Amino acid sequence: MTVSVTGATGFIGTRLVQRLHADNHNVCVLTRSKSKAETIFPVKNFPGIVIAEEAGWKDCIEGSNAVVNLAGMPISTRWSPEIKKEIKESRIRVTSKVVDLINSSPQGVRPTVLVSATAVGYYGSGTSETQVFNENSPSGNDYLAEVCREWEGTALKVDKDVRLALIRIGVVLGKDGGALAKMIPLFMMFAGGPLGSGQQWFSWIHLDDIVNLIYEALSNPSYKGVINGTAPNPVRLSEMCNQLGNVLGRPSWLLVPDFALKAVLGEGASVVLEGQKVVPAKAKELGFPFKYPYVKDALKSILS
Ligand code: NDP
Repeated sequence: MTVSVTGATGFIGTRLVQRLHADNHNVCVLTRSKSKAETIFPVKNFPGIVIAEEAGWKDCIEGSNAVVNLAGMPISTRWSPEIKKEIKESRIRVTSKVVDLINSSPQGVRPTVLVSATAVGYYGSGTSETQVFNENSPSGNDYLAEVCREWEGTALKVDKDVRLALIRIGVVLGKDGGALAKMIPLFMMFAGGPLGSGQQWFSWIHLDDIVNLIYEALSNPSYKGVINGTAPNPVRLSEMCNQLGNVLGRPSWLLVPDFALKAVLGEGASVVLEGQKVVPAKAKELGFPFKYPYVKDALKSILS
């Protein structure tokens, strides 16, 4: 299979490309910066990988069986009005381009699958502690929910004969990036001080599982429509902190003050501080084999 990937140089994309390449698939890395992509995927380790800046995306997409769309400006920044605009527009711009290129590819050589990222932010933040969200739940009313709706709406413009899987991704836990990499130094530094009530929900997924879910969606025709990319057992933030403390060998009451988290994650900290309880109803129905259903095992595998 030949797969074109936007956002391939990011936290999730890098691991996905490594996996595709290891399994002998052809990969086109669709990037804004060839030189950056070449340092992440050096030709000696990734022979055969094609790296294309925007002018070359058309040829890549036309020759692909499937496209994975992960690009977007990181949200873990301070949200000035300009940055908020770019957080949304980067996602719409790239998704729109990908969809246009797929739709205008000649029949016979066009990709038949689009796996496009979105986020659990779709359901809104600061939701009630008892609410549980599955793929059929309505969208929220805040800024990130609006971003996700427009992002998904853009992907939905792909022609109907292209199978579309929209993955609403939770907080991805992995060693070399994402929220955890920023949180760990704080957990090592701070002891005591409650992080809000600690009762807010944290819908997480291990990096291996999100990569496996995307990978499966590429070839399994049952993976279509919205699929929550979260582990089957979301936890309250207090439990996440306890487990992280245990694995890091810090006291189990170790908690990070929210001002500190906001200092490193910017307003993007709302994803962690004002989460929602999201369950992967569709992935479970499809029988997706989660490697890390429990946060304790996920953290152990990442940090030990
Ligand atoms: P990263 O931030 O690690 O990577 C995203 C990629 O998008 C970058 O490598 C970059 O690729 C491209 N990009 C960055 N800024 C822009 C911009 N302004 N315009 C166009 N492209 C840009 O993301 P992740 O791998 O963590 O996540 C992938 C997707 O999944 C993202 O869209 C993210 O919102 C979503 N997601 C991630 C979660 C997580 O916990 N990691 C949770 C929920 C959703 P290049 O420079 O090569 O063009």
